[in-house]
Amino acid sequence: MPVKTETNLAQARVPHLITPLPGPEAQRILKRDEKYVSPSYTRDYPLVVRTGRGAMVEDVDGNIFLDYAAGIAVCATGHCHPDVVAAIHKQSSELIHMSGTDFYYSGMSELAEKLASIAPGAEPKRVHFGNSGTEAVEAAIKLAKYHTKRDKLIAFNGCFHGRTLGALSLTASRAVQRKGFGTLVAGVFHMPYPDTYRGSFGIRPEHASADCLGYLENELFKRRVDPEEVAAVFVEPVQGEGGYLPAPAEFLQGLQAICRKHGILLVADEVQCGMGRTGKFWASQHAGIEPDIICTAKGIASGMPLGAIIARASVMNWSPGAHGSTFGGNPVCIAASLATIKLLEERYIANAARMGDYIMRRTAGWLEKFRNVGHIRGLGLMIGIEFVRDQKTREKAVDFRNHIVQLAFEKGLIVLPAGENTLRLSPALLVDEEQTEFALRTIEDCIRETEKKA
Ligand code: PLP
Repeated sequence: MPVKTETNLAQARVPHLITPLPGPEAQRILKRDEKYVSPSYTRDYPLVVRTGRGAMVEDVDGNIFLDYAAGIAVCATGHCHPDVVAAIHKQSSELIHMSGTDFYYSGMSELAEKLASIAPGAEPKRVHFGNSGTEAVEAAIKLAKYHTKRDKLIAFNGCFHGRTLGALSLTASRAVQRKGFGTLVAGVFHMPYPDTYRGSFGIRPEHASADCLGYLENELFKRRVDPEEVAAVFVEPVQGEGGYLPAPAEFLQGLQAICRKHGILLVADEVQCGMGRTGKFWASQHAGIEPDIICTAKGIASGMPLGAIIARASVMNWSPGAHGSTFGGNPVCIAASLATIKLLEERYIANAARMGDYIMRRTAGWLEKFRNVGHIRGLGLMIGIEFVRDQKTREKAVDFRNHIVQLAFEKGLIVLPAGENTLRLSPALLVDEEQTEFALRTIEDCIRETEKKA
């Protein structure tokens, strides 16, 4: 049995595979998992991880991989960043839990103050803590209804806001996520998201923003729901699970203007696109909008379970007892988050912007080079590569994309799919040029091999 030490992993810059995949120990764990773990999870390939450092992970058989998925865009500062680990150690030796719903501890107000200070907009903010993205969305739904005394909600085709019943009512990503769960929360209306590659109505991609805003005002508000009954519009400034699709700035600005005109709250779900991933703290900042509520989770605490909503103080006017959570804002998660934010501010947001630019420049010729690459888009280290059967018809190449994900794994590169036919690049924000170059060369090899087979 090959011996790999933590030191080897810490020094590893690129993958190193020493067994066929999955290796023998991985196979043993997969067998047990298959018997006892819920079959609802969606594992794309059999990676059984033992440990991680920075952008590298090692599996239970000693194989080393380059992680370009970061635990679904969570490990913003990489795996087990020493500053984050130290903060977790320190806090867990002092106080693990007390419940901020019933008691006070310093970290909760410190992180709330920090999040309030970095949220866009001059008006003071308040923060409510939960444990996940879906809980942040639940909190935003409740706050929007409570504050506006309205009960209708608007979300977008292709959006993903979570899997608990309230958030699931907004989610319109894949039918399988809703199938079998009966009637969801009533009063949710979906509208097209601006798709600047396909066009939101299958036509005129360059008019996607105007077409979608026109649909909202001239179709939705005239035929299906009076804007005076709408509490909030939920939007992902960069659609994540839907295919790593950034909304144009003019769309988000137009959406904000329409919301303001009708007294509707604008909720930015930045669970996936926030916390520096796009090269700014919030993806909303690329468009200069000031959402009434921001939902955040994933990258907020480098892998510790934490979610939050940040709302204008005048909006967060619910009374004691209206909402809370036993675990939300747990002291250990908060300590991890404070350490994470410091690292993001000092180093990693700038690195995300730099590496994102590098990837866009490096892939600029791929549409000429590869007949099955349809569109490459993104902000910072949130980049989607959409695969098509034919660049003219733009027919979606679903199997092609799935094959790339598998092949990449076999070559030691961890990537995830997004949407029907898009590959997502969502590494830790600390990846460097050497790792990024390795990832891109590997993807090029995968595309070349898959095109040969097709
Ligand atoms: N909102 C967005 C934009 C997401 O991408 C996700 C998860 O992928 C969620 C909400 C739900 O987060 P969680 O899985 O932490 O509940």
